[in-house]
Amino acid sequence: MIYIKENLCDFCGTCVSVCPVNCIELFEAKIEIDNEKCIDCNLCVKVCPLDVLEVKDEK
Ligand code: SF4
Ligand code: SF4
Repeated sequence: MIYIKENLCDFCGTCVSVCPVNCIELFEAKIEIDNEKCIDCNLCVKVCPLDVLEVKDEK
């Protein structure tokens, strides 16, 4: 799953635009990821300019 690090995001929307399953939602002052829909492609992690997103293995 994708973990959102606190207080780093500037809500640029880049991650939202690359997500192939549209499971990232951008609000005025936060983003939310629907981990049920996420297919773990990690594209959002790679494109985020601020390294806000992190992959966490569910084990
Ligand atoms: S890992 Fe892929 S599917 Fe999951 S939120 Fe990021 S871009 Fe979307
Ligand atoms: S790409 Fe990074 S900084 Fe931009 S909205 Fe997504 S998590 Fe926030």
